[in-house]
Formats: sequence, C-alpha cells, structure tokens
Amino acid sequence: MSAPASTATFPAYRERYLPAMTPGQIAALSDKAWAPVIVATGAIEQHGPHLPVAVDSLMGQVWLTRALARLPAGASCYVAPPITIGKSNEHTGFPGTLAISKETLRALLWAIARQIHTWGFRHLAVLNTHGGNTAVVIYTLREIGASLGLQCGLLAPAFDLDLPPQENAYGYHANTAETAWLLAVAPQFVDLPGAVCEYCGDVNTPGELRPERAPATMAWVTADLSKSGIMGDATAATAAKGAAWIEHGADRYAAAIAELCRVARDAT
Ligand SMILES: [Zn+2]
Repeated sequence: MSAPASTATFPAYRERYLPAMTPGQIAALSDKAWAPVIVATGAIEQHGPHLPVAVDSLMGQVWLTRALARLPAGASCYVAPPITIGKSNEHTGFPGTLAISKETLRALLWAIARQIHTWGFRHLAVLNTHGGNTAVVIYTLREIGASLGLQCGLLAPAFDLDLPPQENAYGYHANTAETAWLLAVAPQFVDLPGAVCEYCGDVNTPGELRPERAPATMAWVTADLSKSGIMGDATAATAAKGAAWIEHGADRYAAAIAELCRVARDAT
C-alpha cells in the first residue's frame, strides 16, 4: 500500500529526485551527458506579518512539482536536494529570518557541482526563488562553468502577471503575487488579516534614485524601506489569482527546462 501524500518521504517528482535513488540507479542513468541536474535555491526569511518565512523555499518546490509534471516528451532532468536557506542578510532583524553568507551559498553550489560532475552529469541548472541569491548564483555558476567544464545556467523565466503599474514598480517582497501563490497552495499558513499595502515609492513620481530598476539604486535592507516587512500590496491577493499565476509560472518553467534539454541533447 502506498503512503498517503501527507506522510510521503519524497517529493512528487521522486523518479527524478537524486536523493530517492540508489547509487546503482544513479550510475545507470543513460542521459547524464545532457539531462540537467536542477538545484532549487530559496530562502527562509520574513515575508511580512501574514506569510510563513519559508515562502521562497516552498515556491521552489511548487515550481518544480508543477513544471516537472508537464515536461514534454524527450525532455529529462534530475533534481538535487534544495538549498533552502539563502543569502538573506537584507531581511535580518525580523524573527524567522535564517541567513547564510554569500561564501556559504557559493560553497554549497560548488560542492554539489563537483560531485554531480564526478557522477557523470554535465549540466547544472539553478531554479532560484529568492532575489537576494541571484548575484551570488550567477557569479558562482560562471566560476563553476569556467573551472569544471560543467555547463551551468539559471532558470529564470519572465512571468506576465498583469499587475498594476504601482505593484510592478514597487512590489518587491511579500507582495500581491507571493501572497496569492500562498493562498492558492497553502492557505492554512496565511494569516490574511495581517496583510497590508506598503510601498516605498510612487510610480507617478519615481525620481532618479530608487531601491531597484532605476538610474541610481541603493543597497537597501528591508528595514530601510518597510515597517511591516511587506513591499507591495499584499491585500490585493486572492487564491484565484494565485492559482492562475501558478499555472502560468509552471508552464514558463517547464518551457525553460525543456529548452535547456533540447539544446544540450542536440549538442551531444
Ligand atoms: Zn519571497
């Protein structure tokens, strides 16, 4: 009898999950020359008063579960254990934020890369759900590629969520999208009465100096920009929006993974 989902030991994509395989099964995989190993990098950090601190790491698993279930025929990939704690020094000072340094994140990626390379894999892809990790991941993947000869890349499809201009410009964190995603996949963990709308600027009077996406930017920490920990309009989130956006995002991730596979397979 199979275990009920609530007590399952391995994720739904366990046939692709390397920790669920025996050494012999990993050794026998026939597509290691081109099938990428995906590592999810997330974060455990404050996401406002209304969301659990695991949002980014949880969403990495949501994207993997949904995207891998819709990979087209001919695509293949494997999944390494996730790096669930991220470089979240911008969110320190709030209970629940657990951060590792950029050196630790780099070392973890290097350790995984070196070892999967010795097992025979030649492609590594990172599915990153935390903006604070991005710069570290990109420079580390370039180092790994240049040193090991492992082909490395980042899965970062653009989502078209059709958000209002103000949210698009200043919805950085614990925002409409993240709140809606959680309402769709784990509503029991959302304390919606705690959601607020808090922006650190006005899209109609932006000025030259802004926290992000501007001629002049600042190396902000959350405490500079937000009292609640929210940067965006968490009150505009609904479960229905979240469910639709998750479908869209899963399609985009599946397409990105399939394209990685196609290019790598064609090159072998
Ligand atoms: Zn987040």
